[in-house]
Amino acid sequence: MLKAGGALAATLAVTGSQAFAADATASERVKSGKRKIMIIGAHPDDPETGCGGTMIRLAKAGHEVISVYFTRGERGIPGTGLDESARIRTAEAIEACRLLGVKPVFMTQIDGDSEITQERYNEMHKLIEDYKPDIVFAHWPIDSHRDHANCSNLVFDAWIKMDKPFELYYFEVCSGIQTMQFYPTDFVDITSVVELKRKACFCHVSQGPERWYEKEHGRMEEFRGMQSDVEYAEAFVKFQKSSCDLQKLLN
Ligand SMILES: [Zn+2]
Repeated sequence: MLKAGGALAATLAVTGSQAFAADATASERVKSGKRKIMIIGAHPDDPETGCGGTMIRLAKAGHEVISVYFTRGERGIPGTGLDESARIRTAEAIEACRLLGVKPVFMTQIDGDSEITQERYNEMHKLIEDYKPDIVFAHWPIDSHRDHANCSNLVFDAWIKMDKPFELYYFEVCSGIQTMQFYPTDFVDITSVVELKRKACFCHVSQGPERWYEKEHGRMEEFRGMQSDVEYAEAFVKFQKSSCDLQKLLN
């Protein structure tokens, strides 16, 4: 359910087969009604917490959903070295994606040290060129975490430089603490899949989700549900008016 208008070249380390990058062309996908959809988050757990319910619904509807991790969360486990944290958090993200029914892809930025450089612009551009998504969900750029803001800016730059080849939506994470000034245009009802979404988020054991999930994302899901007249929802900002109707893709 979606209600609009205030009520939706560095080497990439790829898990699984890369074959899906070169599968059906965009026009073949449009004909079939199926889309290739990328969620690009800065750290393991960002795509899941911000869009997990929507990812499940899109994957169940037969779309190809790819969860991209800008970093591997190298600084996310206090007292643990970067490589070991990356190893642990990569495994957690892979397990979360398995539950969500989506493909994980890992980029090469470093948690807490993400950069916006010519090389990094090119890396994001190349990722999108390689996978050719029809729709991309990016972090909202006004965010207290530099990695979230940097990730968002690189996606936006690729979208502009590539002449807007995909539909662009923004998602929120920890609104009020991280995402700020976010006024949704679209809502997705995640009531039927909220338990599975939570299971996927709780795969991120190293992050102690039992300490923060309910008071942050749980409350967001309820609040967005209240705004859209359902029990639990996720909220998005669609960049601009376009022909994309997220609601139609969910069924
Ligand atoms: Zn994050």
